[in-house]
Amino acid sequence: MCGIIGYIGPKVAYPILLTGLKRMEYRGYDSAGISTISIEDNQRAVNIVKKQGKVSNLENKQTELQGNLGLAHTRWATHGQPSELNSHPHFNDDKSLMLVHNGIIENYLTIKRNLEQRGYVFHTQTDTEVLTKLIDYYHKKCKQKLSTTLQNYEQKKDPLELALRAALHDVVGAYGIVLFHKDTNKLYAAKHGSPLVIGIGKNEHFVASDPAAFLDHTRRVLYLEDEDIAIIKENSYELKSLCSHNGECIKRKEDLVDWDITAVEKNGYEHFMLKEIMEQPQTLANCLAGRLDPQLNDIKFTLKLTLNFIKNIKRISIIACGTSSYAAMAGKFLIEKYLRIPTEVEVASEWRYKNPIISKDDLVIVISQSGETADTLAALKLAKQFGAKTFGIINVVGSTMSREVDSGIYIHAGPEICVASTKAFTAQVLCLNFLLIKLGKIRGDLTETQIQRMISNLLNTPELVKQSLNNIEQIKAAANLIKDKQSIFYLGRGINFATAKEGAIKIKEISYIHAEDFASGEMKHGPIALLEKGFPVVTFVNKNDPLYEKNLSSIQEAKARGAYIIVVADHIDSTLQSYADTILQVPKVPDYLQPLINTIPLQLLAYYTAKLRGCEIDQPKNLAKSVTVE
Ligand code: GLU
Repeated sequence: MCGIIGYIGPKVAYPILLTGLKRMEYRGYDSAGISTISIEDNQRAVNIVKKQGKVSNLENKQTELQGNLGLAHTRWATHGQPSELNSHPHFNDDKSLMLVHNGIIENYLTIKRNLEQRGYVFHTQTDTEVLTKLIDYYHKKCKQKLSTTLQNYEQKKDPLELALRAALHDVVGAYGIVLFHKDTNKLYAAKHGSPLVIGIGKNEHFVASDPAAFLDHTRRVLYLEDEDIAIIKENSYELKSLCSHNGECIKRKEDLVDWDITAVEKNGYEHFMLKEIMEQPQTLANCLAGRLDPQLNDIKFTLKLTLNFIKNIKRISIIACGTSSYAAMAGKFLIEKYLRIPTEVEVASEWRYKNPIISKDDLVIVISQSGETADTLAALKLAKQFGAKTFGIINVVGSTMSREVDSGIYIHAGPEICVASTKAFTAQVLCLNFLLIKLGKIRGDLTETQIQRMISNLLNTPELVKQSLNNIEQIKAAANLIKDKQSIFYLGRGINFATAKEGAIKIKEISYIHAEDFASGEMKHGPIALLEKGFPVVTFVNKNDPLYEKNLSSIQEAKARGAYIIVVADHIDSTLQSYADTILQVPKVPDYLQPLINTIPLQLLAYYTAKLRGCEIDQPKNLAKSVTVE
């Protein structure tokens, strides 16, 4: 997690760095820091300001942070508490070397012990200070070695680049780092496991964890890959590989960011979360755009899989974390129901370490909003290692996962800034439907008539979501009733179990009310003991659900114990009215669209409840988006 930005160019770096940090605050907000230097300044004084807490604490520091070369960081602490001392940038003893880091150096303790034996003293609890001082150690060594060497070509070598290479060969773990030394007018960047992208401007360059950080300056970007080292100057940059010892430059294709800066602004909404909920009709329209072909009765995207493989898939494993894993659960339900392919869903942090059963006839699907989720990425690499075919459902274009998968589909939800995911979930479910139809068509599991009906329903999702966003006043009233509760149950059966999980995590993460999800039938096997008068229970009733009666029975069981019943339903009738205290009505849709539609009122319920409780909605405590650490 954490957001990094570096700038080098003719402009004053501070406002650029500050705006960049604000745009990346979703990635971490424990502390923030900026360091700058003037390229022109003969004194080469390095400026540095760090503050605990939000990026806004770095406002009005223009006088302390002069200069046109700089780097900045907003932290999500992994090693050492979120204090000013532990904030980045970290530096060496004479403050000539400044470094910001995203990730975890797993062997930092061993390196620290070695450096301590060489006289280094550590002032923070972070792994980052260790990496900084390791680079400093090699830097001093390389400078000494190069100054005594007789060969000219050796003297042309950059000691800091050599030091960086040496240090990175020593470390185990994940990093995205940007650094500068006061004696060189360059920024250095390197990555392994954490994202970094270079922004290419006119006589200026940027490097950041997310292009949103510099999008008002340039759209021309180059996504760094693992083991890349970038040496960035005002007018040029060089790309090299950590794996190649002679340091030759690599050429790589640049990209153009195709979304607009307004996508990362609030556009008049009080919170990014509300904006992202409300823009779902549009994000789903973007996800659908050009992909469904009613004429051909098909979905347009390439599955780089042979016909033989597709017809003989033995098993599908869907691997994801958090909200993406609930989209995965909905996918599993649909794949098993419509295609009859055995499908497992497992959270990546478990799957990767359990010695999973993977065969060459398996399809492994990874789902990740950022495309950088560390556990999911590791799971993907493992699946590839065992020869499984891989498919990604990813939001961030150019992300590491999007480059690693054999094939995949972008959800096109645009930047999701609020830590709690909303629009990415609905677009993931839509993409799982695309995959369902594609596989069903090729395998012959779905009839042409079924596909036709599915395609026309899918095309209608933006309109259906718009209708689901209409219950605001009622949802606000329900939020008012649950805002002071200690705990809430979310119950669902079949495909609605996935939506129950998603509803529960949403309210937990942003309103801090304890919530638990259960398969409705499980309630009587234990959790019912907790029910008492006024205990909120959120559940679903879809009129055409084959288990309609069973759902009503579950509600009755809870109601008999005095629970306060909130039902997301696609109809209102006297039966339902006699059971439910609040009915949040949504349009009637077939099961494959229910997670997408039924989740909308629950997103809003979480939002308005958190708002009534005065919570920090976009940046809930202890969390960060884009979980690039294990
Ligand atoms: N491990 C580093 C720290 O705790 C970096 C964490 C981050 O990615 O923000 O400071």
